[in-house]
Amino acid sequence: MIDITNYNDDNIFAKILRQEIPSKKIFENQHVYAFEDISPQAPVHILIIPKMPFCSFNDFAEKADGKFMCEFIKSINLIVQKLELKEGYRLITNVGKYGGQEVPHLHFHLLSGKQIGRMVSA
Ligand code: AMP
Repeated sequence: MIDITNYNDDNIFAKILRQEIPSKKIFENQHVYAFEDISPQAPVHILIIPKMPFCSFNDFAEKADGKFMCEFIKSINLIVQKLELKEGYRLITNVGKYGGQEVPHLHFHLLSGKQIGRMVSA
């Protein structure tokens, strides 16, 4: 089970940020890095991660300063605009065991390119 209470920079997304392992970049600015999910669940499946060491959404909500939070959210919107997702999209962040979080670095899944199915699988 992953630890989402203490940030561990051995996680795979920290390694992607440090360019120790490759990724397919979609967008980058001083606040976020966005790249293609290695196992896409939709025609568009992008992961958006902060360039700051937050384990999960809780950690981000508790520790990020207001300016960074704002820039992070605006950066997600910039990516949506860049990809011209005019028909809509789904934004998901999984937290902990029940949320199905596998990587302990905050990430949002941006899914689009078709009508995304049920909110929760059976
Ligand atoms: P989560 O279950 O919300 O933690 O999602 C983790 C996501 O990371 C999954 O959708 C994986 O397919 C994706 N993933 C794992 N390793 C990589 C990688 N090296 N490059 C891109 N995506 C990855």
